[in-house]
Amino acid sequence: MTTNALPDKCGVGTACPGCGRRLPLRFAGPGEEAALWECVGCEAPFAGILLPDIVTMLAQRIRLSQRHFDTEQAEPLPLTLRQVVQRIHNGEPVDEIRELRRSVRLAGLRHAVLACFDAQYGIPASALRCAIANLSSHGLLLVTGEPIDAGAVVVQVQSPRGVLQLLANVVWKQPLGGGCYGGGGSFITRFGRVDG
Ligand SMILES: [Zn+2]
Repeated sequence: MTTNALPDKCGVGTACPGCGRRLPLRFAGPGEEAALWECVGCEAPFAGILLPDIVTMLAQRIRLSQRHFDTEQAEPLPLTLRQVVQRIHNGEPVDEIRELRRSVRLAGLRHAVLACFDAQYGIPASALRCAIANLSSHGLLLVTGEPIDAGAVVVQVQSPRGVLQLLANVVWKQPLGGGCYGGGGSFITRFGRVDG
């Protein structure tokens, strides 16, 4: 993916207050809850609202602040989670998990943290702990201990090369039993990497 798909002077997005590059963000309007973002280029903070129309072109220029992934207040994952995920991996029907994805899935339990967007792409609530029960190039199955109350989420996951932030639409959600909730995420894009 190129980060230079749009010229910096074409007027879309908002200029970074630190380096002037165009970012896929706008300032919050009345009643909107801005999220705290960072410019990947210069690390300047930017309190704003994501612009979904241009985010796939400019996503690598921003990342969500770590303050939105603080799980201090979050509920722990249910103790039943591993069994619920095992049932999914064994191919047992957990109610009726819908099969929407085109690509091959990789099974394996990964822990992650979810920042949940409201309808205006603000982040009103605290982060959720989650497990990624399976993953493909198009999407992922999220398992949480409480319902995912969002149409889109940022999934933050540790990878060997740093921390990844993936933006996904939540295309379905349903209880999985055992106090676990499932959500199907369809990838939109990936934000700029957090090193370390
Ligand atoms: Zn900048």
